[in-house]
Amino acid sequence: MSIVLSHTMLEAIKGQARDEMPNEACGYLAGNVLADGTLVAAERIPMTNVDTSPDHFSFAPKEQFAAVKRVREVSLRLISVYHSHPETPARMSEEDIRLANDTETVYLIYSLATDEIKGFTIDSEKSVSPYPVDISG
Ligand SMILES: [Zn+2]
Repeated sequence: MSIVLSHTMLEAIKGQARDEMPNEACGYLAGNVLADGTLVAAERIPMTNVDTSPDHFSFAPKEQFAAVKRVREVSLRLISVYHSHPETPARMSEEDIRLANDTETVYLIYSLATDEIKGFTIDSEKSVSPYPVDISG
């Protein structure tokens, strides 16, 4: 299984990450789940980092509600929560693990420091597993 992002979407995430420096950028990816479990991102939903912090992020509940509504309207699913790491590598920080509570989503982290994007899932025991990211096109 993997999560598939177009090159264009990756560039958009990178652009948002640069624009929101020195703070973390964040958002949702909406998409489709194929029969074999592959997640295919179709739409990026940038969110405001209400923490305006370089080392953690929170979504605004009002924007979260709007994102859920939007995704329902276009018959997609929220498949990923992404955020940027301005100065640290693309891995789940202790804070990320503490705040991650969705065992159904793929957490994507883009590091501006290493120009890498990596995916992770978390289980109910807070155990983190890498999740493959495929960039297409
Ligand atoms: Zn993080």
